[in-house]
Amino acid sequence: MTWDERVYLDYAATTPVADRVIRAMLPFFGGTFGNPSSVHFEGQQAEAALEEARERIARALGAKPREIIFTSGGTESDNLALRGIALAEHQRRGAYRILITPVEHHAVSATARQLQDVFGFIVDYVPVDSYGRVDPDDLRGLIDSSTALVSIIHANNEIGTLNPIVELAAVCAEKGVPFHTDAVQSVAHLRLDVRALGVSALSIGAHKFYGPKGVGALYVRQGTSILPIQTGGAQERGLRAGTENVPLIVGMAEALEWTLETLDQETQRLRALRDHLIEGILNTIPRVRLTGHPIERLPNHASFAFENVEANALLMYLDHAGFACSSGSACKTGNPEPSEVLQAIGFTSQWAMGGLRVTLGRGTTQDHIERFLGVLPAAVEKCRVVSRVN
Ligand SMILES: *Cc1c(COP(=O)(O)O)cnc(C)c1O
Repeated sequence: MTWDERVYLDYAATTPVADRVIRAMLPFFGGTFGNPSSVHFEGQQAEAALEEARERIARALGAKPREIIFTSGGTESDNLALRGIALAEHQRRGAYRILITPVEHHAVSATARQLQDVFGFIVDYVPVDSYGRVDPDDLRGLIDSSTALVSIIHANNEIGTLNPIVELAAVCAEKGVPFHTDAVQSVAHLRLDVRALGVSALSIGAHKFYGPKGVGALYVRQGTSILPIQTGGAQERGLRAGTENVPLIVGMAEALEWTLETLDQETQRLRALRDHLIEGILNTIPRVRLTGHPIERLPNHASFAFENVEANALLMYLDHAGFACSSGSACKTGNPEPSEVLQAIGFTSQWAMGGLRVTLGRGTTQDHIERFLGVLPAAVEKCRVVSRVN
């Protein structure tokens, strides 16, 4: 099989860098290589590129330029939001509780857990329904004066479900508690306006929207208390020390604009392909369920649970047949563990070990979907294991 014949259906894991983005970055590796903090001409040129990228990203998200903090990616943005805001709120008013959901990305959940285990915070979990959505009234009932921060994922990476961020942010605003959302999966598919969403902080990462890996941003609404978690120089208004990665930041700005230019047509195209894929799978394969919300989900995202199928075996079979997919959870080796997210939305381990995530993107064609539908039934059949509990 050649690379041309391979079918990539894992755009939620990462996306290829768009040609236009590569071209936009190139001058900043060699020609315009200055350090944005330097006083001289070379430094000023780099600083101008950095600030222009900040303005472009701010404009695309409905933010002010000074509200955009550049980071090394979605993970760092989540770390800065959680640790930075929790520590600031603790210092300011003694708040010590962090509210998250059981379906967060590990960049949020592991950071919250460290704040509990090492820094003395208490992590509470807002319940989610069988689609992975939070009810704003449940959130309202859990916030009190000891709550330092609420963090709830916007679009779930594993099951695609969208949370009602406007309503959730409004509850936090009413209670005077900062609200962060991980929107890393959303940017490629939804028009985000941080002001309309009403959030205090929002994470993005460029490689999920056709930008380079290793760069991201955290929007922090003006007036939000936050401490740096990486200390040193005064870059990024003292909130993220270290010389900025100018080429990658320029690439992220270009990628965001490129993505938004054709977002509406692309959303329609992908939603139609995705719905055809979901229908094809649910109609031809026994003992399968769609995971996540049937409507309130990312337009490119399909995810399933198969009873008594080992996800990794299925992924390897599909890989050999030329298809790149994911289980949605990050367990790559070792003992197959049932997905925490699928268990959190009520699947038993017989189902939760059989997650499959199929995510579409700019390179996906109708032919890809037909070919995938052609191989999946046999793949699932091959990977069904005999139930241990009968
Ligand atoms: C990919 C992803 C991250 C991590 O982003 P990186 O840029 O890879 O560090 C965080 N949250 C969600 C929801 C993601 O999908």
